[in-house]
Amino acid sequence: MESHSYQHIFLSVDAEAILKIPLPNLHIEDTFSWEPGLEQYFTVKSTYQLYRNKNRKSNAQPSSSSVINLNFRRMWKFKIPEKVKHFIWRGFTNSFPTTDNLQKRQIGVDPRCLLCGHHTESIMHIFNTCTIAKEICRELTIEEEIVGATSFQDLFDQRRIRLRQDLFLIWLICMWDLWYQRNLKLNVETFRSPQEVKRFATIFLANHQAAPK
Ligand SMILES: [Zn+2]
Repeated sequence: MESHSYQHIFLSVDAEAILKIPLPNLHIEDTFSWEPGLEQYFTVKSTYQLYRNKNRKSNAQPSSSSVINLNFRRMWKFKIPEKVKHFIWRGFTNSFPTTDNLQKRQIGVDPRCLLCGHHTESIMHIFNTCTIAKEICRELTIEEEIVGATSFQDLFDQRRIRLRQDLFLIWLICMWDLWYQRNLKLNVETFRSPQEVKRFATIFLANHQAAPK
């Protein structure tokens, strides 16, 4: 992968760290490993633990971290795939490489939303006020926009309070898929219609919940 490709996928600080990883001389197959987890594979729980430990060490403000902790505790109880929980965690910590976040890090990018072509792309635009997010909500027959929501956590809380849990989980999966579609749009011009996103999220949740543990 060319080095500039990393800049599109990761934050610059992460891309720089990745590019500094020395490559082995031996020709061996790559494997995935997640160091903080005892199981050696990625889990949202181990990431949460890592986040908590980091917060303790840096004496982060208790008020904001306790709100995140409360939402995390709620999230553990949801019967949704780990990758969707990881997506939510990235929302809580605003760690998506949206164009406004990239601009804050002095990375020159077109600020417009990749999905609708308008506005500056921010986490609240993509998941709350973007035309595409609103069209998905219309498909779900829920409020198109949470007026006045100021953060992903706020949006998460407001939707959670207002929706039946199954519908809330489908909305979360739709938003996770919307982010996936947005990343596809970096390279290709087609993406799922709001109807297809809703159908995909409904089937995805049902399959996950029906799968034996
Ligand atoms: Zn948009």
